[in-house]
Amino acid sequence: MYPSQLENLIFALQRLPGVGAKTAERYAFTIMDWAPEKRKELIDALKGIEKVRYCEVCGNLSEGAVCSICENQNRNHNMICVVSYPKDIAAIENMQSYDGVYHVLNGLINTSKGILPEMLNIDSLFKRISEDTQEVILALDPTVEGETTSLYLEKLLEKHVKVTKLAHGIPVGGHLDYADSRTLAKAFEGRSGKQ
Ligand SMILES: [Zn+2]
Repeated sequence: MYPSQLENLIFALQRLPGVGAKTAERYAFTIMDWAPEKRKELIDALKGIEKVRYCEVCGNLSEGAVCSICENQNRNHNMICVVSYPKDIAAIENMQSYDGVYHVLNGLINTSKGILPEMLNIDSLFKRISEDTQEVILALDPTVEGETTSLYLEKLLEKHVKVTKLAHGIPVGGHLDYADSRTLAKAFEGRSGKQ
């Protein structure tokens, strides 16, 4: 009923989480009604993210082959903080007190959804660990999936390197990136090894 270009946009928008047919239609009409400059901003932004990829070292989002954190020689490369998603890095960086590097798993083990350890960015974590590595901090969500993944990594890593986990303080079932900086900083300070 609409021109096919508009139908295509509605169809594409419906792929977004929580966006049904009606909402997608409303968004599409809103975008259509925008001034050309405003619409160009969105088009350019969408084109721009095609250049974003995963860092070859840590799995973080990056503009180049290696992300800006991995490239930064002022950071402590012997301290590796393991997180589930790139958005968790932003939360930890907001604390402004961690100067180590990161490793992004890009997911968590979830056997009921068929997400197995080999599907996560774990192999490259092992390759990064050397005798110079001081500590691996497991900063995963205090959810069932986060705990399962932490236990899995702890078992594999503890023979080779000091492994610590964030102290409790982030509500159980909560997500790291929703924690405020103070809560997160406390959880970092109180981190500990095997209990
Ligand atoms: Zn990186």
